[in-house]
Amino acid sequence: MFKVNQDYLKLPGSYLFSTVARKQREYQAAHPEAEIIKLSIGDVTQPLAPAIVEALHGAVDEMAHAETFHGYAPDLGYEFLRSAMAKNDYQAKGCDIKADEIFISDGAKEDCGNIQEIFSKDSKIAVCDPVYPVYVDTNVMAGRTGTYDAAAGTWSNVIYMPCTKETNFAPEIPKETPDIIYLCFPNNPTGSTVTKEQLQTWVDYANKTGAVIIYDAAYEAYISEKEVPHSIYECEGARTCAIEIRSFSKNAGFTGVRLSATVIPKDIKSGDVMLHSLWARRHGTKFNGTSYIIQKAGEAVYSDAGKEQLSAQVAYYMNNAKVIKEGLRDAGYNVSGGVNAPYIWLETPKGMTSWDFFDYLLDKANVVGTPGSGFGPSGEGYFRLTAFGTYESTVAAIERIKKM
Ligand code: PLP
Repeated sequence: MFKVNQDYLKLPGSYLFSTVARKQREYQAAHPEAEIIKLSIGDVTQPLAPAIVEALHGAVDEMAHAETFHGYAPDLGYEFLRSAMAKNDYQAKGCDIKADEIFISDGAKEDCGNIQEIFSKDSKIAVCDPVYPVYVDTNVMAGRTGTYDAAAGTWSNVIYMPCTKETNFAPEIPKETPDIIYLCFPNNPTGSTVTKEQLQTWVDYANKTGAVIIYDAAYEAYISEKEVPHSIYECEGARTCAIEIRSFSKNAGFTGVRLSATVIPKDIKSGDVMLHSLWARRHGTKFNGTSYIIQKAGEAVYSDAGKEQLSAQVAYYMNNAKVIKEGLRDAGYNVSGGVNAPYIWLETPKGMTSWDFFDYLLDKANVVGTPGSGFGPSGEGYFRLTAFGTYESTVAAIERIKKM
């Protein structure tokens, strides 16, 4: 009889957003008249920008002719996209990253989940708490996290770095030394971020201890404040210790299109083994490339028209963030985030857990958000709302919350 991977069986309960969706479905079935507004999952609502759509059409037409048809894409990505990223996202900002250090992929979730494969099974990971669940769950599947304490909501072999009001929603250097440090700024779920000086302390720490930082920059496009770094490679020494993961989902609305990139500088080495070589081997073996059509759409993100249209799209969502943040403040809530990120993080009223507040908000305002405790034990007592709705639904949701 076959045996299943026992590590999968250690995963507790269902995925956070499945539980949120189930509760919403059950409420709707019991209250068919309720017009529920969803400010829960971080999915975009605006259509693709015209420059992207034009590039997609152009690429489809190319595929219709033998002379311009493209089969399998290079598994590390087309040169035109890797060069556009190297130039615009890095070199133009003073970061020393070359096109051949960028690996094109079909989603940051995929890369965040798969990257752990190139590290030893006995590596110890450190994560922010609360955290985007993918980092922890994929390490659970890989058998790296020890045993689960259901009461505490923690794994015995994971270092948790609490990010709460007390730490200004930023992690502090842990007492125990990790091998792999997951950082995500601007942060999902708290919407917080760090200054370049703060990030530099992490880079220095990683270089000193021999750890690797996996830096998730999925929300980079939402940064509005000058002192906030757009890339970890703005920090000195990051080339020897940091992997950066980029997504096209939130800056360009590609959640359903699927495109991302992972940067691995050739200077990150364990002995004389380059992480770059291991990821190239992994990508070459398990991935057959992101389609030409989608990579052409990605290239259009860096055109003049693309840049202009997408910055308007980001501004649209950030205006929603402002509506949410100011509205909640007027209603007496303690709120953070929403300035460099499309997430607003609020403290639940005294005596209410994150899930209590979820039920209360759904029942009294017919608004769905995400309980902070779903992102880790230090998320208890907090709640996340996203700015990715339409302007109209966001305004309506906040009006309802104010009347609660
Ligand atoms: N990383 C973070 C922190 C996210 O919040 C998300 C999606 O919400 C992703 C990665 C996934 O991005 P992608 O759509 O490129 O898979």
